[in-house]
Amino acid sequence: MSNKLQQFVREVESALAGPKDEEHILEHVSRAMGELVAADDWLAPEMAVPHPQFYQQYLLHCDPQQRFSVVSFVWGPGQQTPIHDHTVWGVIGMLRGAEVAQAYLRTDKGIEPDGPQQHLHAGQVVVVSPRVGDIHRVSNAHDDQVSISIHAYGTDIGNQRRRVFDPATGAAKEFVSGYANVRRVGA
Ligand code: FE
Repeated sequence: MSNKLQQFVREVESALAGPKDEEHILEHVSRAMGELVAADDWLAPEMAVPHPQFYQQYLLHCDPQQRFSVVSFVWGPGQQTPIHDHTVWGVIGMLRGAEVAQAYLRTDKGIEPDGPQQHLHAGQVVVVSPRVGDIHRVSNAHDDQVSISIHAYGTDIGNQRRRVFDPATGAAKEFVSGYANVRRVGA
């Protein structure tokens, strides 16, 4: 593991050793994430490989007690997620290229965009959580190049049961994302 990633993992551990409130954790982890994505010189090449069809999620580190995980999100040109939630806190830092996020709100009628699209450029950091807004769709901002963001979540996110939402009806469906570089036990 690169020194910078190791330093980031230590920072998250120290954030989790402090006050348990989410606000404190998000603030501490966001600051550390800002330092991690300030320079694009540490991500292992095998954790940056795009897939022609699907955006990739590579597990960079999982806390032995599953209190948090760190993942590289690799976007091929034009790739995007479905509308989804996380169920835990998450901190996203843009390492390479750019992505576009659209937040959503569930309503009586289904699911609706919540506010304008937000662009995330290299070096920038955003947060998600059930408290501050947990449902969004994320896309590569580029149609002609790979983009990569680094994500930290308050659990082993690849094994977390969460939901995707039908954009037309808002109907929720459970999913478990897994990781591109980890075979799931029993799967
Ligand atoms: Fe997300």
